[in-house]
Amino acid sequence: MTSKLAYTPLEDIPRIYDAARKGFKTGRARPIAYRKEQLLQLGYMFQENTERFTEALASDLGRPIQETFLLELDPIAGFIKKGYQSVEKWAKPEGIPFDFNFFLAKPKIVKEPKGTVLIIGPFNFPILCTIRPLIGAIAAGCAAVIKPSELIPATSSLFAELIPQYLDSELYKVVNGGVEESTSLLELQWDHILYTGNGNVAKIVAAAAAKHLTPTTLELGGKSPVIIDPKMDLALAARRILWGKVTNAGQICVSPDYVLCPPSAQEELIAGFKAAYKEFYPTPDDMRTSMSRIVAPHHFDRLKKLLDSTSGNIVVGGKSDKADLWIEPTVVKNVKADDVLMQSEIFGPILPIVPMEDLDSAINFINSRDHPLALYVFTNDSQFKSKVVNNTLSGGVVINDVLLQGATADFPIAGVGPSGNGGYGGKAGFDTFTHRRPYMDVPGWLDMLLKPRYAPYTPKKIRALRALGQTNMPRPRPGTNRASFGWKKWLSVAIFVAMIAKSFKYLTARVEE
Ligand code: NAD
Repeated sequence: MTSKLAYTPLEDIPRIYDAARKGFKTGRARPIAYRKEQLLQLGYMFQENTERFTEALASDLGRPIQETFLLELDPIAGFIKKGYQSVEKWAKPEGIPFDFNFFLAKPKIVKEPKGTVLIIGPFNFPILCTIRPLIGAIAAGCAAVIKPSELIPATSSLFAELIPQYLDSELYKVVNGGVEESTSLLELQWDHILYTGNGNVAKIVAAAAAKHLTPTTLELGGKSPVIIDPKMDLALAARRILWGKVTNAGQICVSPDYVLCPPSAQEELIAGFKAAYKEFYPTPDDMRTSMSRIVAPHHFDRLKKLLDSTSGNIVVGGKSDKADLWIEPTVVKNVKADDVLMQSEIFGPILPIVPMEDLDSAINFINSRDHPLALYVFTNDSQFKSKVVNNTLSGGVVINDVLLQGATADFPIAGVGPSGNGGYGGKAGFDTFTHRRPYMDVPGWLDMLLKPRYAPYTPKKIRALRALGQTNMPRPRPGTNRASFGWKKWLSVAIFVAMIAKSFKYLTARVEE
């Protein structure tokens, strides 16, 4: 919180952009060996500077070292290694399903780097949300400019210092700054923009990208609900939910935002929260040393205002300390649907419980709002699970736990609707920055078959063309919704053989002449 961030001079931004574009155009990033070497370098950057990253995150977010290892440094090492081991496989051309008409042209999808891409990151997970997308960009063979958050000066300064030391400085660049610098970056024409942050800024990013028809990936947030089945072990549910709410002081895109619980189970759930609270923080000192701080005074003020103006009843926590940007883990019961706590994403350690008569009401409540980034369900009842899953839509869904979807190497944390679109976990990161380019190599002799496409059009040519291209809809067999295309396959083979025979006859006639 004491570090100062050196902003990139605005007049340097077009020069940085041009240099990254020029670097990409050298074609240096095409060989897989180069991409693997850059990924290893990225891994070494974290491995050789572990202490500096834990110190930077402690300075920026008051983050306990254990959380930095658990949430960022250990996962990023695994994600980089996975990219390093998988890039060859990801980059291999893909065949397409057998197509009788075109298989002789050897059709396939080749994987091309999109070009020079922009990655704009948030404050809450600078490594996972700014550097993890970079893994995808490097694996895909792109050049990238990253713009970390200005709210975490120590970590963003460290990126600016280390990235040019470890990575190819012509292709991978850091721009530091705030709104002005982001705006200046967004005026330029990128080949892809990946933005992680809040939905209001996402609209600005999407509008800027639209001016150049640049594709975007938007990793956003929103209010992620938890549905409670009263028959569940509520002590276990409370412990896991509270852990999800206090980790990084609730500043996680997939933090459980609020709980929907039948009124009859509310008190037992609260007893569970109280027990878990005592278990996590036996003394006030444990509380101070085991919790991250709120990132900035304006976010602290926003959260304090929510606590001061809620009409619900605070049943756990409620204290705060502005000098230390600390807010005690707080549970608020009997929160109404129109309460201040239910207006927007909380992004802090405050957990409202909204009493909900039954599961149908809970599902209707969720469906009347934006599709959330995460949906959590605590139940051991398989019918309860499938009812929730089959009647809602969310970025992801986790049964009986929280946050774990973010730790899995191959899961994209992908939103839907206002919680975002696209993702960058595992292969999804490679795919995001890759253009899937259809490729065919058509031999000249294939005109023996394809000649009827040329004018002058005659009924005979039309018949020949239609024999190759016509598709009739299947008729489902009675009593089933499956239909057979078998006859089409055999008809195609017969036509093919007939055409080969005809071409053969034609050629032998020419030879005899
Ligand atoms: P933010 O939108 O305030 O900032 C993110 C980035 O946008 C920063 O680099 C910032 O400099 C830039 N920015 C801010 N205002 C801008 C403007 N007017 N024009 C251009 N750029 C601008 O987000 P934040 O507060 O840092 O992050 C919190 C939000 O991010 C939460 O909503 C959270 O849910 C979401 N989030 C989502 C994911 C995910 O994977 N889906 C991950 C982390 C955070």
